[in-house]
Amino acid sequence: MKVGVLGGGLAGLTAAYELAKKGHEVLVFERAPYLGGQASTFEVEGTRLERYYHHIFTGDADMAKLIEELGLADRMQWLESKVGFFHRGQIYDFVTPMDLLRFKPLGLLQRIRAGLVTVYLQRFGDWRELENVTAQEWIRKYAGQQAEEVIFAPLLRAKFGEYSDQVTIAWLWSKFKDRVGSRSKGMTRELLGYMEGSFQPFIDALANGIAAHGGKILTGTPAERLTIEDQKVKSVTAGDVWPVDRVVATVPSFVFLEIAPDVPDDYAAQLREVSYQTAMCLVLKMKRSLSRIYWLNISDPSFPFVGAIEHTNLIPSEKYNGKHILYLSNYVSRSDPLYSASSEELFLRYLPSLRKINPEFEEDWVEEMWLYREDAAQPIITRGYSRRIPSYETPVEGLYLANTTQIYPQDRGMNYSVRLGRVVSELAAR
Ligand SMILES: Cc1cc2nc3c(=O)[nH]c(=O)nc-3n(C[C@H](O)[C@H](O)[C@H](O)COP(=O)(O)OP(=O)(O)OC[C@H]3O[C@@H](n4cnc5c(N)ncnc54)[C@H](O)[C@@H]3O)c2cc1C
Repeated sequence: MKVGVLGGGLAGLTAAYELAKKGHEVLVFERAPYLGGQASTFEVEGTRLERYYHHIFTGDADMAKLIEELGLADRMQWLESKVGFFHRGQIYDFVTPMDLLRFKPLGLLQRIRAGLVTVYLQRFGDWRELENVTAQEWIRKYAGQQAEEVIFAPLLRAKFGEYSDQVTIAWLWSKFKDRVGSRSKGMTRELLGYMEGSFQPFIDALANGIAAHGGKILTGTPAERLTIEDQKVKSVTAGDVWPVDRVVATVPSFVFLEIAPDVPDDYAAQLREVSYQTAMCLVLKMKRSLSRIYWLNISDPSFPFVGAIEHTNLIPSEKYNGKHILYLSNYVSRSDPLYSASSEELFLRYLPSLRKINPEFEEDWVEEMWLYREDAAQPIITRGYSRRIPSYETPVEGLYLANTTQIYPQDRGMNYSVRLGRVVSELAAR
């Protein structure tokens, strides 16, 4: 069978790899001149680095299995994370239950209450019973308003920006489960996984695996249009017209609707119901370190960014010739004035806040900077989301959709895109 795969991110590459292994004739169309999508990399100090900060959790079984199959298991490094909260001019460690108990911005009783609520949520069996309530309502009710404002709201803002008050508690439930899964037995530390030399070797190995099984990958080749006749997919137009028996689309839903305007109205309406937040990452290469923390949550609504992720506090800076790598992360909607800012403009906006984190910070610490923007970074997971998830099988025969809007209640991530790619490849191969 001839299968066109739209998108060369992890879902598309995994689907293509699985289909090629089964002997199908696979053709991957990727708009960008490189593969990897949101997990793609660029060069810094002679080594590869993700455009957006990336690590995996110890419970990411689908990723681990594929990494093993591709012969890359010995490149995985499991490193102790340093997570912190920045609140009112101070950095607080925030990895273990003891850290929460020591978290001074909340009174002792509030800390205990927040801890008990977190444990209760982690042990809660069925997310379906929770999904009709927002995280904000649920947390306010059980942990109290102050804990919600100081701890939980910043975590939600860090992913959903202005939509954070609409997010279902089922999402937070699953997020806590992932994080707890990555903790050591005594809960005294958290291990995060990163591949030696970035996740680029994983992307390369998938691409090589596709080619080794006769598949073809076209980068810099956006899919422009799908031809559908008698409710059956016939071809992909991408520069040329490519006849196909099946199409697996892993592009964001808004792109899918542009390429396939002829899908039946009901399905199209379902896709339109889910919107995305844009991620903006300003990556700084610095001669000094901003803080001792890898993942710094910002609990200060006056900050123009939501997280400061200092990659070189997870991976030693020696790997980057002694330079320090800092991602300043933001999630915005397209109407936000920050959305169209240049890297220099953003940096100037961020500068006073960087000085709040480290009063010694000087502009000349920064030797180079890059700005990356991803419009399909985060589907907005609102109440009752499970009822709005589009199916993998579209109403058009031979046409399948697999994108991050179908990942739920888990937080979208490489592990789940790999799973998505495998699951949709099984459907498309039937
Ligand atoms: C800021 C940020 C931080 C993240 N951190 C982590 C992390 O720490 N750990 C983790 O596991 N995950 C993380 N993720 C998430 C993870 O990277 C994604 O969930 C995963 O890579 C998505 O893969 P995908 O293939 O489903 O989608 P994508 O990577 O979005 O792939 C879709 C592909 O389709 C292509 N495309 C679009 N239009 C067309 C077209 N017309 N024709 C052909 N191709 C097209 C795109 O260029 C893209 O390559 C992060 C994501 C972001 C944005």
